[in-house]
Amino acid sequence: MQFEASKHDKRHIWLLLPCVLIICICALLLLMSTSGKRQADVPLSVLYVADTSNSMTLQDVRSLPKTAFSRGEANTNLGMAQYAHWFVLTLPTTLTSERTKLLEIPYPLLDSLDVWFFSGPRSPNPLSRTSLGDSLPFAERPINHASFLLPIPPNADGEITAVIRVATNGSIKLPFQIWEEQTFIEYTSKEHIAAGLLFGVLAAIAISNLFFFLTTRNATFIIYTGYVVSVSLTLAAIHGYGFEYLWPEQTWLQSRAVAVFANASIMFALFFTYLLLELPRHNKHIAIVVKALGWVFFASVLFSLFLPYFYLIQAFLLLLILAVLVVFGASLWLSLKGVILARYYTLAWSVLMLSAFVVTFDNLNWFTLPVSSSTLLLYGAIAETLLLAFVLAMSYGFQRDELVQTKDIALAREKEVAAAKDKLLRTEQEAKDELEYKVQERTLELEITLRELSDANRELERLNTIDPLTGIKNRRHFDKRLLAEGRRSRRERTVLTLVMLDIDHFKSINDTYGHDVGDKCIMHIAELAKSFIKRPSDDICRYGGEEFAFILPNTEPEGALALIEQVREAIENSPLTVDEKRIRITASAGVSSGIVDENGGEVALLKQADKALYEAKEQGRNKVIMSMES
Ligand code: GH3
Ligand code: MG
Ligand code: MG
Repeated sequence: MQFEASKHDKRHIWLLLPCVLIICICALLLLMSTSGKRQADVPLSVLYVADTSNSMTLQDVRSLPKTAFSRGEANTNLGMAQYAHWFVLTLPTTLTSERTKLLEIPYPLLDSLDVWFFSGPRSPNPLSRTSLGDSLPFAERPINHASFLLPIPPNADGEITAVIRVATNGSIKLPFQIWEEQTFIEYTSKEHIAAGLLFGVLAAIAISNLFFFLTTRNATFIIYTGYVVSVSLTLAAIHGYGFEYLWPEQTWLQSRAVAVFANASIMFALFFTYLLLELPRHNKHIAIVVKALGWVFFASVLFSLFLPYFYLIQAFLLLLILAVLVVFGASLWLSLKGVILARYYTLAWSVLMLSAFVVTFDNLNWFTLPVSSSTLLLYGAIAETLLLAFVLAMSYGFQRDELVQTKDIALAREKEVAAAKDKLLRTEQEAKDELEYKVQERTLELEITLRELSDANRELERLNTIDPLTGIKNRRHFDKRLLAEGRRSRRERTVLTLVMLDIDHFKSINDTYGHDVGDKCIMHIAELAKSFIKRPSDDICRYGGEEFAFILPNTEPEGALALIEQVREAIENSPLTVDEKRIRITASAGVSSGIVDENGGEVALLKQADKALYEAKEQGRNKVIMSMES
């Protein structure tokens, strides 16, 4: 994602403020540490001669005519050379007569320095001889200091001459300084607090980014940490602090430290660029070139460990120019494309590039800086590191914004999905409810129908057992009841009594008064007979025509006989009045009684009753006859 300038403008400005503030403090420190540093008034006479064959001795140099020497300055820079140089310094008398003086050569990368002090140019014996250079362990220095420092021996006669032999793989730079001991102590304390502060800032940045890496697992932070550490070590090596504090015994490392750490710095810078600017997202080709260059610098780090420094430093400078151009070009291109991060990144690199180019040109002796080149590089690197820290913080902020945005979108989508699900569920529930309601409704309807049906059935059943004319039970009911009571009598050994009752001469009633009256007679007799039935178990049914049958369970014959006799009497004494005509009716009955013993025993009992009825008719009617069989 590309971030437009307008989108995060305000936050950039607030983030940039502390960076600018720190850079201003750095600039102030630079001024502070350099002001009053030089003793510019001291007129130093510097003569030098190149020893191209590397074979000259002290005597050879001292016996050379003055014309063989070239004239140098207090800040002589001869560029790269693989052979030794001899310098002859004449210190003015005004200097030597006073208190203890120090000669400083603040370029700590010189491999080998031999210094002889003579009391004047013609004096045969040296006052002192000292061997220095970073090819010797740090502790062997006459004064343990990051830059080369020599006490100038006192000379009562006045003038002092110093003869110095220099051999080094890098630049031949001899920025001579003459100090009064007291001034030097004062200056050094200032310089040390400035350097301590700057290295402290770098260390803080490195540590905080390491923690950022540990908490976020974002590779950019650890690459940046690597970069800051490498830059810090490079600067420490250039300033001599590395040799003084970190590897005072390892002369082998000291001779390679600058190359190793500088290569590592550029390697980390390339990988950092690759990750921070998300190059593969913008341009695959540039991404490949930057990554490849990163690996070239990684190889260069390995080569720096064993190849001679003289060749390395030149290859390094060429590669450095290439790397800076590629990184700067890519970042500039992205800036023009509108990638906001790239703009700050370009600014950061501009600062370092400017100081690096100036220092490079100074190293190659294309021109000479008014301030110490290494100091300039130090401040350039710190300004760049701070700006990069700012860019990294910004990038992380952007990434977090992007993450938050993505999360917001995901959350919104999740909500939508949840809402849709909810709606679906609700619809489903509604459909279910409706279905359930309908099912309930149908079930209820069905239940009602079933109940109605069962009522109708029951009514039908009832009607089925009722005789429509008289309203008492019919023959069908009688048959069922007879079967059931027969079984009960057999089971319980109880007496079952059956009665058959028949209206006498009914045919003639029909014939005389008509069928309607006949029907009324039947109804009249049924009413009468029914009124005598008191026990719930007793039953009277219309057996057929004008015949009625009684079922009297658990009834002794005597009781039954008495009951039927009452019925007969009641019929006889209750003539029916139709159309003011009194119709006298009588009836005959046959009674049978017994315990049913066998299957079908009840039918036999009924037959006996029928037979007894026949007897009653035979004997003149209007009679009740008890069956004598049992
Ligand atoms: P008995 O004294 O010998 O019983 O003489 P009866 O006339 O009653 O003889 P029977 O039993 O042979 O005659 C029955 C008559 O009853 C025949 C039929 O005309 C008449 N009957 C049968 N059922 C009905 C009915 O439901 N209504 C009417 N009005 N008459 C009926
Ligand atoms: Mg009959
Ligand atoms: Mg009859």
